[in-house]
Amino acid sequence: MRDGLIPPNPGIHLLPVLGRHVTILGSTGSIGTSTLEVIRFAREHYGPNAFPLQALTAQRNVELLAAQAREMHPAVVVIGDAAMKPALAAALAGTDVEVLAGPDALIEAAQRPAEMVVSAIVGAAGLAPTLEAAKRGAIVALANKECVVAAGEVFRRAAADSRGVLIPVDSEHSAAFQLLDFAQTQAIEKVTLTASGGPFRTWSLERMAAVTPEQAVRHPNWSMGAKISVDSATLMNKGLELIEAHVLFGMAPDKLDVIVHAQSVVHCLVSYADGSVLAHLSAPDMKTPISLALGWPHRIASPARVLNLAELGHMTFESPDYERFPCLRLARTCLQLGGTAPTILNAANEIAVDSFLKRRIGFLGIAKIVEQTLNTFERINNGCTPTNLDDVLELDAAARARASEFTGQAAGRAA
Ligand code: NAD
Ligand code: MG
Repeated sequence: MRDGLIPPNPGIHLLPVLGRHVTILGSTGSIGTSTLEVIRFAREHYGPNAFPLQALTAQRNVELLAAQAREMHPAVVVIGDAAMKPALAAALAGTDVEVLAGPDALIEAAQRPAEMVVSAIVGAAGLAPTLEAAKRGAIVALANKECVVAAGEVFRRAAADSRGVLIPVDSEHSAAFQLLDFAQTQAIEKVTLTASGGPFRTWSLERMAAVTPEQAVRHPNWSMGAKISVDSATLMNKGLELIEAHVLFGMAPDKLDVIVHAQSVVHCLVSYADGSVLAHLSAPDMKTPISLALGWPHRIASPARVLNLAELGHMTFESPDYERFPCLRLARTCLQLGGTAPTILNAANEIAVDSFLKRRIGFLGIAKIVEQTLNTFERINNGCTPTNLDDVLELDAAARARASEFTGQAAGRAA
């Protein structure tokens, strides 16, 4: 267990949990709307004052953000795209909800005094506001894995300095958080994250070459935003999660493993020195880990689906195929390398996935763009771990520029 990330003792945060003010960064996305479902359920179950909302934010979806604000009564709403502010203000006319806009306002939302901040923006766009929340010592319910992959050391230091807390919302890490015995970490032999294998688990590389964005975002078990759905299809998601586990739990890279489990019912396995293997099971429903984070250190009632093992009937496990899923191999290499590698990996992947979703490159092009970008950086940087946000953002921008060049070349060749 590393200092500062998830203290075993909740310390100063032992407030009555239902009275916690909550800010949701990215409230209109898959995790954001599931979080509001959990809060809606808590208000029905425990009373209308449960989890008062401080701020809700979105990038462009004015209609849904306004509807959420009218129903759930946050103090403030923020729309990331400033051009949409007049439409949001008009949609909330006659209410007392404050309306702000632009990237600086996202940071301001994170600074407002909510004890709990749910980090559910997708990608590196969530970095600055999530870090702001960590710096002021908020409890950060962390769904956005990209920010700890890109800026692991920055987050570790911020949380240590502020004595803040990061509670994982990613299902595998929420499971690990519950399974790890932080009092005897020397007895932990291995942490194994499960991977569903995504929609192309059994496909040949030849078949995968022709995959369309529509096929890639149709995940067999989970309903998620487009970017993480593509990451699940390439298995980059599991690679990012290995790095996330390393940052959050301080686990050495060689103690982290992946196993493919198509049913997504077991989320993580922790192996101990005495041969015991502890597993966490739940239905594949993000409302379970979201409820755990919102209620921590207590367990609250949740609208999450209930697991029915008899109905499921059987569970399967198999080793991942690093040949057909090279993104997992690349992420593993970056985990071993440390330093700047995870930041570059994440930035290149964001560009490559975006290009795939815009049909500029093929599905197998994603791993190629990421590998090409990593290779150029290996030659030109000294590999030091970035320790402040500016250094991370500079490296992130350089890696994006490089990946965009390769994407342009690949798109040119295909045309
Ligand atoms: P999503 O695409 O459904 O939602 C993203 C949210 O971020 C939306 O509210 C959107 O308005 C906002 N947003 C997008 N771009 C933005 C920008 N540039 N600036 C500010 N806000 C912006 O994504 P999601 O599936 O909810 O995933 C959110 C995060 O949670 C991701 O990092 C993902 O990896 C992680 N996560 C998701 C799941 C899941 O089941 N969906 C599971 C584990 C982890
Ligand atoms: Mg996950």
